[in-house]
Amino acid sequence: KVKESGKNDCLLYSESWSNSSLERLTLQHEMYRAIQRSEFILHYQPQYDLDSCRMVGVEALVRWNHPLKGIIFPGSFIPLAEESGMIVQIGDWVLEEACRQNKAWQDAGLPPIPVSVNLSIRQFVQNDLATKVSAVLDKTGLDAKYLDLEITESMTMDVGHVSRCILALTELGVGISVDDFGTGYSSFHYLKNFPIDRLKIDRSFVRDIQQDPSDAEIVAAIIAMAHNLNIQVIAEGVETEGQMEFLRKHNCDEMQGYYWSPPVSSDNIEQLLSPSHI
Ligand code: C2E
Ligand code: MG
Ligand code: MG
Ligand code: MG
Repeated sequence: KVKESGKNDCLLYSESWSNSSLERLTLQHEMYRAIQRSEFILHYQPQYDLDSCRMVGVEALVRWNHPLKGIIFPGSFIPLAEESGMIVQIGDWVLEEACRQNKAWQDAGLPPIPVSVNLSIRQFVQNDLATKVSAVLDKTGLDAKYLDLEITESMTMDVGHVSRCILALTELGVGISVDDFGTGYSSFHYLKNFPIDRLKIDRSFVRDIQQDPSDAEIVAAIIAMAHNLNIQVIAEGVETEGQMEFLRKHNCDEMQGYYWSPPVSSDNIEQLLSPSHI
């Protein structure tokens, strides 16, 4: 169990700064240069099997290591990156870096686990997403079964197009997860129309699982329904032992959250994966 390792990555960023349009422009300009200057970094949050408590995967989460402002969290720049379209370039970098790192862990002899990468719906708008993913797998040498792509729903998406994209991706052999399940407008639409491997129960449902009877019912029902559809379930934002026990009792497959570990550096993951740690 990792306790403090995520702490020193946490420089909070001022809210007021993101509101002024001049500063938004500045930020957008800086974001363009940040890719060339390699200012983005990935942290990884472990995902655990609820029965064995073994680490069975990691989620790659991007951070911007700004030269003057310090570490900026995705909540403070992803929205602007989405708006400006920069998310496509950032997303390309994230995908390749996560695959490269995962292959490097495997080459170092660590037990192979999948890495999850968050995709923006913007990345689906491009026609060549599956081609791009396939090229990255070739370039990095990572086997497709060790890559999982997390998608969130968006009101503006073209369901037919996204559905064809997802099909092409699954044909490559990568896994597909629905992120933040339950928070959007059409979560069930996803399950019905797309070949989904896994859903991630949003942490807003997990938080009050023990106090709020309706949250408890909803989570239990999501797990049961997903299993009937042959879909694996991971719970996000697990912070307490009580939440973990509830999820275990209801046969949730995996969990991710501060209870076990915050997102940590790749070096930390290497330690967690190494046999001496287990
Ligand atoms: P997400 O994909 O749902 O990722 C989970 C977020 O919840 C992460 O925040 C993680 O640090 C946080 N978290 C994990 N466990 C706990 C917990 O127990 N309690 C609480 N309160 N929070 C927990 P983070 O890293 O700040 O990322 C926020 C969001 O930014 C992500 O939500 C994802 O939507 C987006 N994001 C991050 N990296 C990327 C990326 O490379 N591409 C895209 N398109 N979006 C990204
Ligand atoms: Mg995610
Ligand atoms: Mg999520
Ligand atoms: Mg979330």
